Amino acid sequence: MLRKRLGLGLLVAGLLLAFVLPCGTALAKWDKASPDQVQAEMAKGNARFVNQESIHPNSGIDRLTLAGKENQGDYAVATVLTCSDSRVPVERLFDMGVMDIFVIRVAGNVMKTDEIGSIEYGACHVNTPLVVVLGHTQCGAVTAVTNELVGHGHPLERNIPPLVAPIIPAVEQTMKADPELEGSGLVEKAIEANVWQGIHNLFMQSAAVRDLAKSGKIKVVGAIYHVGTGEVSWLPDDKAAAILNEAENDPARAMNPMSSAEGSGHGDGGEKIDSKHGEHSGSGFKSLISGIALILALVLAFVALTQNFKQDGLCGKIRSALETLWHGLRGR
Ligand SMILES: [Zn+2]
Repeated sequence: MLRKRLGLGLLVAGLLLAFVLPCGTALAKWDKASPDQVQAEMAKGNARFVNQESIHPNSGIDRLTLAGKENQGDYAVATVLTCSDSRVPVERLFDMGVMDIFVIRVAGNVMKTDEIGSIEYGACHVNTPLVVVLGHTQCGAVTAVTNELVGHGHPLERNIPPLVAPIIPAVEQTMKADPELEGSGLVEKAIEANVWQGIHNLFMQSAAVRDLAKSGKIKVVGAIYHVGTGEVSWLPDDKAAAILNEAENDPARAMNPMSSAEGSGHGDGGEKIDSKHGEHSGSGFKSLISGIALILALVLAFVALTQNFKQDGLCGKIRSALETLWHGLRGR
């Protein structure tokens, strides 16, 4: 009797795992602080940094040992895109440590495919509740673009103009909004506009990030780091929300959140990763399916061993359904 109950219990657990896991893991993933709580902690860390009171959390050998064993997705709380500038040391300025921040750094914190893909990875796979686009004062990349647009440019190495091209609309908008601006005043405004431009590009090109932001699972926020004081100024949430809303209503936005065009109906699906050049993006899903298949296999083995289940009757039917599901999963 006990064995039969145990067998039934395992069957129910197996079925629940098989049917609930693929979407249920999303719930477990978000068992972290809320986006606002993360932002508040980062603001506190920045205040400690500014006041020279950093406590350097999560930086000891115990954290390294943990990092060697655990999935960063269970720990990291923020994805940060910022500039490569040596005056912007991300973990230090937020007084955070190992496995706390998923960082993307590129000159001018430009937002193009590589950066958007990295943010998608941070938000969807590292499960960070907060995404920060962090510009900084005295940014050389924004200054170079501004100088070029006001006619004071100078020749740049061949790969730099295409790198900083996404900053051009930000500077142009700033100049249009206030034609009187010039010099460092213009650059300062353009630096903030470049953060908003980045958030706009992100929302336009990533349906996955838009969906997470709309659901409240993540928050995308802009900020400016002041290189001379160490202070981070957080930009208004409502402006980021307005940009999200604008992107949602823009017919030019990317519609399919996934790399495969399968089932999108919009024909804007991106590319799959070529197996010759890198890991397939679906490897995590495949591992999940393998895990479920393993659980089902164990349940089936248990059922076979207990002999309490006959081919006819309810239990036999459940077993047959499980076997069908098992073969279906293997065939994926
Ligand atoms: Zn910079």
